[in-house]
Amino acid sequence: MIRYCKRCKAPTEHKESLVRKPSSYDRDKSIAGRCMLLIHEFINGGHYYNMNRYVTCTICGKKVLENMGNEFE
Ligand SMILES: [Zn+2]
Repeated sequence: MIRYCKRCKAPTEHKESLVRKPSSYDRDKSIAGRCMLLIHEFINGGHYYNMNRYVTCTICGKKVLENMGNEFE
């Protein structure tokens, strides 16, 4: 997709990628903690709620966060 790149100072082709947001439960390696993480995600409407959307410039490789909606929770 075409997005304006601040580093290239021009509209360039970008790749989209989704990166999971770190959660407080991620630090808990216990089985109970893993279960809480799943429950937490379920309550919040599934995985996509916890994803950050990035676009990466295919020319210079600059990665920009491009969330829509719940950006600041
Ligand atoms: Zn660029």
